[in-house]
Amino acid sequence: MNRQDTILVINAGSSSIKFYLYGVGAERELSPLLGGQLEGIGTPRPRLRVRDAQGQTMTERHINPGHAANVRDAQEVVGTWLSGHLSGSPMAVGHRVVHGGPDLHAPVRVDDAIIEKLQTYHSLAPLHQANNLAPIQVIRERLPDLPQVACFDTAFHRTHSAVADRYAVPESLYQEGVRRYGFHGLSYEYVAQRLERVLPELRGGKIVAAHLGSGVSACAMVDGKSVDSTMGFTALEGLPMGTRPGRLDPGIVLWLMERGMSHDDIQHFLYHDCGLKGLSGIGNDMRELEASEAPAARMALDYFAWRVAEGMIGLGCAMNGIDAIIFTAGIGENSPGMRARIARHWEWLGIRIDAERNARHGPRISTEDSKTGVYVVRTNEELIIAQHTLDLVAPR
Ligand code: ADP
Repeated sequence: MNRQDTILVINAGSSSIKFYLYGVGAERELSPLLGGQLEGIGTPRPRLRVRDAQGQTMTERHINPGHAANVRDAQEVVGTWLSGHLSGSPMAVGHRVVHGGPDLHAPVRVDDAIIEKLQTYHSLAPLHQANNLAPIQVIRERLPDLPQVACFDTAFHRTHSAVADRYAVPESLYQEGVRRYGFHGLSYEYVAQRLERVLPELRGGKIVAAHLGSGVSACAMVDGKSVDSTMGFTALEGLPMGTRPGRLDPGIVLWLMERGMSHDDIQHFLYHDCGLKGLSGIGNDMRELEASEAPAARMALDYFAWRVAEGMIGLGCAMNGIDAIIFTAGIGENSPGMRARIARHWEWLGIRIDAERNARHGPRISTEDSKTGVYVVRTNEELIIAQHTLDLVAPR
């Protein structure tokens, strides 16, 4: 492969780096060539796994923990693997960056000023931002001429109205950046694009899409544009998640402070010890909880279903109605049990799930007579990043 015909996409988190290589066709169509993951960063057993487009394993091996102690080091490992397997570098690298702050409404080509700006948003995404930026910095040091593009999870939500963008706090705080940014925007953007193609009858419709993965949120979209989201200032707000609580009385944070917990203790607690994991005392993996007979696991599932159902339907107020409901991401795409559990809270609205369609994962999972159509759409954040990257470095 030569450098003019591939785009590399990197999605770096606290414990893993996922990377994908896309080929760029003559008509600018993007086709996946390989996908890899270095997981277990900072643990005693980091592993690198890479598969080609057919799912055949290209590499599967343990990495010396000293070489993947943090995301920076892990990116060096990924870079070395890529340069050993590709001839030349890709035409550009696209990165998922969670927070674009109030000013960045669209993907941007990265330069020093952009990196500096993005670093100021660390505290708005403590779990993500530094890890998202680490590979950008490593690549900039090693290959300063390789174009890099940052794609933001917040950007899709910059179409929100002034009301949707606010908390009920003094205006001065809003001006300082205390805003409802919203997240999972790359996933919602893909879902909106996919709906155009696979369910064109929903064009222009009022859609509630729920991204139910490790992080969980829902988004109200009209005509493919975000008008509201359950997530706000940070990725803590809204619906319950794997290890984050979602909605929480801020008085609880004050109460924890009074008990002597420091800022870092509380931050760790809110990002790592709450949600499904905190409620169940078992873990954050939906599969494990669904398989468990433990009463606390049932409780966690009931809580999750109720609050997700409530949050999704509440978004109807932003649009004065809901034409269709979409489930996506790990839980949304793969758990018929949780989808059914959530939809039980909507029976009073005439929304009905067809058990067989639900077991087959749709795409439509509601009955013919359901008042609102319910669908499963598989998300693909990486493809959206690759598209944006191509559009920025090689405009049509
Ligand atoms: P992320 O990419 O944010 O890490 P994912 O979108 O992969 O997260 O979602 C992870 C969640 O999806 C986990 O809670 C996992 O248990 C759940 N999940 C994945 N597959 C299934 C399945 N077959 N049944 C139920 N839950 C699943």
